[in-house]
Amino acid sequence: MRKCTKCSVWKKESLFSIVKHSVRNCKRKRHVYCLECKRAGAREWASKNYSPKAMRDWREKNRDKALLNWRITRASRRKREVSWADRKKIRSFYIEAARLTKETGIPHEVDHIIPLKGRTVSGLHHEGNLQILTQEQNRKKANK
Ligand SMILES: [Zn+2]
Repeated sequence: MRKCTKCSVWKKESLFSIVKHSVRNCKRKRHVYCLECKRAGAREWASKNYSPKAMRDWREKNRDKALLNWRITRASRRKREVSWADRKKIRSFYIEAARLTKETGIPHEVDHIIPLKGRTVSGLHHEGNLQILTQEQNRKKANK
């Protein structure tokens, strides 16, 4: 049993997540917060730091880093882009997703059917590997 420092509830050891870098050292150190508190904290942090406004502010303050991040994203996408990909067709997916978002009010995104950076396979930035999903469907897919 172990007491969570946040909610002060005694819980089973297994309800505390293991600190990542401790696994390598064989000493399985566990977090001082229980899983529930840790998740709640992460959600709070994300809502604060991933809101469109917060991201914009961060970009404003960290222009050079933002530019670098964008360059990395673009470069890795280019690498996955094959010469036989049709740029116009690819762009039409993004235009269509934007149109659906506007018309239905439901956020739509362009999804790579086979992810660009999959664990076992890497997909291509090619029109044959694209589909339009609602943001919700896309998140569900990512969680699998
Ligand atoms: Zn807790």
